[in-house]
Amino acid sequence: MKKRLSIFAAVAMVAAATVSASAVHVGNIVVKRGVADTVYKAKHVVVGMADPGAEFTVNGKPVKAYKTGTWGIELELQPGNNDIKIADNRTGSATFKVFYSTTPKKVTPKEQAAAQAKQAAEAEKARFYPTSLKVSTREYAYLNYGAGTDRLGGAKINYLPEGIQMYADAENENLYRVKLSQNRYAYIPKSQVEVKGKYSPDSDFMQDNVVLSGSSSVYNAGEYDRVSIGVGGKKPYIVKEYTDPHKIVVDLYGVQCNSNWLTHKSGLKSVDHIDVESIDSDITRYTIYLKTKSSWGFSMDYSGNNLNIDIKHVPAQLYLKNLTIGIDAGHGGPQSNGAVGMSGLKEKDMTLDMAHTLKAILEKQGAKVVLSRDSDVGMTIRERQDKFIANKCDIVLSIHCNAGGGPLSSLGTSTYYRYNPYKPLAEDILGYLLQMEGVNNFGMVGNFNFSLSAITDFPCVLVETLFITSLQEEEKLADPAFRKAMMENVAKGLNDYIKACRIAEGQAKK
Ligand SMILES: [Zn+2]
Repeated sequence: MKKRLSIFAAVAMVAAATVSASAVHVGNIVVKRGVADTVYKAKHVVVGMADPGAEFTVNGKPVKAYKTGTWGIELELQPGNNDIKIADNRTGSATFKVFYSTTPKKVTPKEQAAAQAKQAAEAEKARFYPTSLKVSTREYAYLNYGAGTDRLGGAKINYLPEGIQMYADAENENLYRVKLSQNRYAYIPKSQVEVKGKYSPDSDFMQDNVVLSGSSSVYNAGEYDRVSIGVGGKKPYIVKEYTDPHKIVVDLYGVQCNSNWLTHKSGLKSVDHIDVESIDSDITRYTIYLKTKSSWGFSMDYSGNNLNIDIKHVPAQLYLKNLTIGIDAGHGGPQSNGAVGMSGLKEKDMTLDMAHTLKAILEKQGAKVVLSRDSDVGMTIRERQDKFIANKCDIVLSIHCNAGGGPLSSLGTSTYYRYNPYKPLAEDILGYLLQMEGVNNFGMVGNFNFSLSAITDFPCVLVETLFITSLQEEEKLADPAFRKAMMENVAKGLNDYIKACRIAEGQAKK
């Protein structure tokens, strides 16, 4: 992940601004972080570089440099002045001073005024004002539940096709609040819609924005079952997929349930049956009950005023050798290094190497493998998605290195999924990674917003191998044998998942 990097870089810059950290050195032992005039916490971390494996002391405590050449130690400071002495019995010693202040940092009136002005400006950007506009979605638009944001940009609901008209009744600097139905609102980034004109606030919303549902059908279209819903206009929807029972629920907003005529053609492979109901006067719900236990993705788009939901069939032979696996090496190119470790190890290089390694492992087992990128080039999420869809990938795995938590922590490995049907894949991969010696459990994250896993067209799990910003984990990531072992475990998890799907779908005996 990238965002933490800027925080990390900011910390390094603050340290460099007080005293030049690189000025403190003993032979090849250099201090990179931890040189500061005044600090306000007793626990003080000093980090630097040395020759790989070098042994020396900091305030008498033994320190050993990692194989990457990084080293770090946490010291307990006493109130007032502290001498920090780096000593090497071959090359000598160097001492620098850090003042530990137990009284909080004094804020000058000027700093206080600047902080208040900044806060006010941010509040102003976030403030919503009434508006009355007709807006239409651009390509790759998505709805958000709320107006807030987390480190990956707010809780997304789902993507919407192009050309969906909505009524925006409020706006702030970056978002429109759109009225989906009489009582339901969502938020959409301004950059993702085109303004189509004014909307009269005196208009009758029901009269002007609510269409009637038409007749619908479901049929086997070859590689997928197509549910074609007759809608009186291009209306927004919220879609969710559930397990036990396996179903896809589509709520159509601004659509009054007028027809529950639904033709089920014979020969369906994914869809069992569909229920139509009205859950509000202007919301119509289609519940698509599926025959399958496992999920292989679905795509949604309008064709005229018909909403098509194409639900992929289960692959006929659920063995790795019959499947196409997409592997995404996170980041890449001059614009996106991803996170960078203390020794200079770049996330984009590690993910590319691991993607190639995993490709070789899976190809040896007979799978067809498609890489999003196979060299150091930048790619948008959309370009990655389009490549995986064009190559009809059955499953996509995205490989990243994590960042954050401080250089001395060792937070471990983690897997991420967006949709519940893919939780077992995330679990299987994590389970194998945790069997590796010295690999801690950072955990599994569901409902994850990462845009590649938010795409419904294919199952996708993100693997955050280890924290590249942890000195200890960076050393592991820097070791090609360790990276290979990690990818072997990812492959084992993938194989277990495919086997479980095969059993669940009745293609194999338990
Ligand atoms: Zn990343």
